[in-house]
Amino acid sequence: MTYPNVNLHIAGAWTEGAGGDTLPVLNPATGETLGTCAVATRADLDQALAAAARGFSAWRQISAFERGKTMRRAADLLRQRADAIARIMTLEQGKPLAEARMETLAAADVIDWFAEEGRRAYGRIIPARTDGVVQMVLRQPVGPVAAFTPWNFPINQAVRKVSAALCTGCSVILKGPEDTPASCAELVRAFLDAGVPGDVLSLVYGDPATISGYLIPHPVIAKISFTGSTPVGKELAALAGRHMKRATMELGGHAPALVFADADIEQAVAVLGANKFRNAGQVCVAPTRFLVHESVYERFRDGFVAFSEARVVGDGLDPQTTMGPLIHARRLEAMESLCADAVAKGAELRTGGHRIGNRGNFFAPTVLCNAPLDARIMNEEPFGPVALIQRFSDEEEAFAEANRLPYGLAAYAYTRSVTRATEVAARVHSGMVGINHHGLALPETPFGGVGDSGHGSEGGSEAIEAYLTTKFVSQASVGV
Ligand code: NAD
Repeated sequence: MTYPNVNLHIAGAWTEGAGGDTLPVLNPATGETLGTCAVATRADLDQALAAAARGFSAWRQISAFERGKTMRRAADLLRQRADAIARIMTLEQGKPLAEARMETLAAADVIDWFAEEGRRAYGRIIPARTDGVVQMVLRQPVGPVAAFTPWNFPINQAVRKVSAALCTGCSVILKGPEDTPASCAELVRAFLDAGVPGDVLSLVYGDPATISGYLIPHPVIAKISFTGSTPVGKELAALAGRHMKRATMELGGHAPALVFADADIEQAVAVLGANKFRNAGQVCVAPTRFLVHESVYERFRDGFVAFSEARVVGDGLDPQTTMGPLIHARRLEAMESLCADAVAKGAELRTGGHRIGNRGNFFAPTVLCNAPLDARIMNEEPFGPVALIQRFSDEEEAFAEANRLPYGLAAYAYTRSVTRATEVAARVHSGMVGINHHGLALPETPFGGVGDSGHGSEGGSEAIEAYLTTKFVSQASVGV
């Protein structure tokens, strides 16, 4: 499959949009233009909103059993199409082909899981105080959803929101990522080809702020789900709040990884290293601040530097590549400026710290040690291939540093002590904790943050809660 020009999907039809405007889509490995992405106008959004209202009325009437069957067909289609979709994703997003394929197949598992979980959106009966009264708790779909998803996992960020909405009987308007629109469009196509009615799932692209500013307050929309940066998330959550809309916010992180004296250092380097550089570090749960006990500090640091230098940075289509480019030139500039600031303030640059070549957005895997706390990168999410290794001597100091930032998405710890592992799980301010392995982001396990990392969950049985309302019905029988 060659790279397709990407259209909007509105009310059952793929369309170039009423205005005919497009955005260019670039290959981050070469800088070349791959194709175009259609831009939605106000009139397109109005059509999508009308479709979402109609789609919701019809889809909520379909049983969860039948909705689940349709969804499972979409999962099968994704599996059948995984190779072609992965190629498109690598072209527009940059990640190695194997990672793109894994993401597509993982999305199929997400759909299957939600298809089943939708059948378990149980209500309950509460014993009444009075004879002849039945007290029922009904779970009903919240209504049309506006979902906003980013470019780092073009399919996986979208599939969690769309699947949770569809399995509960909601309709969706998905504002996909303009940088990586085609693989996200393939996800939508799989749902439509599987039999999801056209009114139930619309896909739009365009100016993100214009689209969110129109959809969030609109009376048709009942729920918002956003994945992206904390500053944007705070704005959208405030807008949702002003209009009393329910909102799920999956925002940034700055994950601490505590490596204690009794850790398996080789395992810690291998697992944390792989997860630091996956998707060139453009992952919200990527480990970022490595807090290492002084007794194992040199061993960990040297192992991590060697791991970083062994990454093969290149075009994701090359099978040798283990790390692709950053998504756009803006991110390269962000990495250069964060690294320069840290070094100017006294951090030791052990490897990397610079872009590679002058074609494509390649940045070298980077290790900065002992950056001072006022370095910007110790406070701002780098969202790139930079590891910050810090030494600690006292465990209280390590816990204090782990909890210093307002973020709380993911945290990691390596230790052979069960007591210490239990303490980490209890004390670290974070929505997710991985101890002695990675283990996050399965469909059946909760996925979400606390504090500035947002609220709500996009995995586990918690994930569908956000798409359901609770209605209490108290019914007395009438004497015959
Ligand atoms: P950005 O803040 O411009 O965009 C991030 C995402 O939010 C994009 O998908 C964008 O389309 C969307 N967005 C931006 N403004 C919006 C608005 N007003 N309404 C609706 N959607 C909006 O940043 P960027 O340069 O593309 O990415 C860099 C930063 O974004 C990173 O530092 C990282 O913190 C964050 N990010 C986070 C995730 C995540 O998984 N949590 C994913 C991608 C990007």
